[in-house]
Amino acid sequence: MEKYKGYQCSKCGKFYPPQDILYLCPEDGGVLDVVLDYEKINSETTPEKMIGSSDNSAWRYLPLLPVSDPGNRETPLGAVGYTPTYRSDRLAEKLGLMDFWVKDESSNPTGSFKDRASSLLIARAKEIGSEVIVTASTGNAGAALAGMAAAVGQRSVIFAPKTAPPAKIAQLLVYGAEVILVDGNYDDAVGLAVQASEKFGWYCRNTGYNPFTAEGKKTAAFEIWEQVIYANDLEKPLCVFVSVGDGNIISGIHKGFRDLNQLGWLKQMPRIFGVQSEGSAAIANAFEAGNEEILPVSADTVADSISVDMPSDGLRALRAATQTEGAYIKVKDTEIIKAIAKLGKVGVFAEPAGATAFAGVEEALSQGLIKADDPVLALVTGSGLKDVKAAMQSVEAAPIVKPDLEEVIKVVGK
Ligand SMILES: *Cc1c(COP(=O)(O)O)cnc(C)c1O
Ligand SMILES: [Zn+2]
Repeated sequence: MEKYKGYQCSKCGKFYPPQDILYLCPEDGGVLDVVLDYEKINSETTPEKMIGSSDNSAWRYLPLLPVSDPGNRETPLGAVGYTPTYRSDRLAEKLGLMDFWVKDESSNPTGSFKDRASSLLIARAKEIGSEVIVTASTGNAGAALAGMAAAVGQRSVIFAPKTAPPAKIAQLLVYGAEVILVDGNYDDAVGLAVQASEKFGWYCRNTGYNPFTAEGKKTAAFEIWEQVIYANDLEKPLCVFVSVGDGNIISGIHKGFRDLNQLGWLKQMPRIFGVQSEGSAAIANAFEAGNEEILPVSADTVADSISVDMPSDGLRALRAATQTEGAYIKVKDTEIIKAIAKLGKVGVFAEPAGATAFAGVEEALSQGLIKADDPVLALVTGSGLKDVKAAMQSVEAAPIVKPDLEEVIKVVGK
């Protein structure tokens, strides 16, 4: 007996009953939403029970997830999610906001938000008896799958562009995944992962393809609800800023808030803002054009994790903003790099895609999309350790001195 009712196509709305493996809508290739049984969930649990859980990981929300308990709680699989959310009065003051929070996903076991999806996929693979999981990745999704698979002793195969930052490739290899580097871009890696999955019968984790990734990612929305909205009894809708590449994180977060809303646990939907680099802005372009037609771009941005020609979850990602009175915002790479240093000054170390949402908050304020008294949260999706080269671009080089105090005095006194 499955824990979910079935799937619904985000494009044509068609409903499909549960099946072991179903990726896209067979009719039109639309991405599928997993449909939960809200009545059953409400008969079995309450918000108070969920918030009182002693499980300090994303698994505290297991009753709201479409998988059964994967166990392995004493491995890195049991350490995913429930990431810290910091209230930063210093950043709020600098931005001219009254209430500002940063949710720091770098504390996930493999250093990025992607652990939320990969951990859920591990649970799903166990349920349906898949021995091998394959994914395409710009780096983080692969690292997350490799790390989570290693945690439970599962075999994983990762296709990544050979241009991925070295730290990410190193992570894949160290976790013991079978890594195949593609002499092409991310979109090429995506195509190969699908073909390999069909050829070898591997379970495919690709973003915007496997309906379960968004179900893992939605746990961040549950945490934002618990840690910020519920904890502070917010009156105004929270403005949640998310960096967007394929659009699966923002879709997952939208789904999480919709689940809570449907359950009657969240009265007021947050406003969701997607932030893209100017150099990879396919979804933001459609938002600006005021339609749902997402056209491919030739992506070029310093933020490799959100560098995507044709977003695989674009339609749902667009609706996350249009259905919540949010917006899409474009930021320059120079602003993304500056945002790394600004977050660093409050103790948060972000990779470029991780700092992009924060850059978007500044841009949204300057465009008047949000006001000083709006409560705002920026999601930091990945650790600065993932891309040290970009981090070094955000700061001035350190002075080098001879081992002589006189030289130190010169440097300090300048
Ligand atoms: C994957 C990723 C994103 C973007 O997520 P999408 O689902 O592709 O929109 C943002 N930041 C980081 C660090 C990521 O790894
Ligand atoms: Zn469809």
